[in-house]
Amino acid sequence: MRRLFALFVSCCVFMPSPAYCWWETGHQVVARIAVAHLTPAARSRIARVLNVLDTSQAVEDALAKAATWADETKAETGTGNWHFIDLTLQDDKSDIPLRCQDDNCAPARIRLFAARLSSKPPLDSRWSELDALRYVVHFVGDIHQPLHDISDADLGGNCERVNPPLDTAKNLHAVWDGAIVNALGHNDKALAAELEKEIDAMTPEAQHAVAAGDPDDWTWESHQIAVKDVYQYLHLPTEPILFPAGCKDAPVAITSTELQIGNAYIDEMAPVVRQQLVKAGLRLARLLNESL
Ligand SMILES: [Zn+2]
Repeated sequence: MRRLFALFVSCCVFMPSPAYCWWETGHQVVARIAVAHLTPAARSRIARVLNVLDTSQAVEDALAKAATWADETKAETGTGNWHFIDLTLQDDKSDIPLRCQDDNCAPARIRLFAARLSSKPPLDSRWSELDALRYVVHFVGDIHQPLHDISDADLGGNCERVNPPLDTAKNLHAVWDGAIVNALGHNDKALAAELEKEIDAMTPEAQHAVAAGDPDDWTWESHQIAVKDVYQYLHLPTEPILFPAGCKDAPVAITSTELQIGNAYIDEMAPVVRQQLVKAGLRLARLLNESL
């Protein structure tokens, strides 16, 4: 288990307020947006898999609930590595397979579980159709959190402290997991409805363009956002390629960092996160429409 298993578990299972996981709110918003863009056939199939009525509201509520199952069960299933990919600041897109040994990374798992939903052969019979659906929904959300697609020997920003804490975020990863999303709104249903209005204002061609690409394309795009809007913006030093098991093994330049992040950064990054949520929702819908 490389990264952060303990940290993710502590964030996503034991935190008193679930809104501070990436994104309990974010995952739910992505699922809700996707449901609004499903074909009738895909929605019916999802309703059957989730065992709810085939109405837009019932499927939306059920898929939003299902969207966080992968975080809630990752300790017992030992699948923590599936939620991210450690692409270094020195990597380029062709390095994705190198950083995804044995398909233990988010974009590979999206492909494998989407294939499971299509009944294309063959995936570990350990996972049911319901599990495959819940993983696809969750991992598409995860790869749109830019710090799930990068490593600077810092466990995706977990090893850089933020002092004073922002909201309750005490490290950089938590700023992107929770603080920025929370600045957009705590209520996933209201936030999804707000973003849906932005999508409605787009032409069908623009929506189609956003939904294009494959999980590797989306991962690389998120990685580039992390490079520009996190590592370059905050002037973090580029570290040698290293994948520490925990922050205590990270380079001193990382562990000695104490970032002061003010509301100006949150305000500037909020539109980036809004865009990531919209993209994830439309892309998830396309993937499900094609797979189901
Ligand atoms: Zn996750």
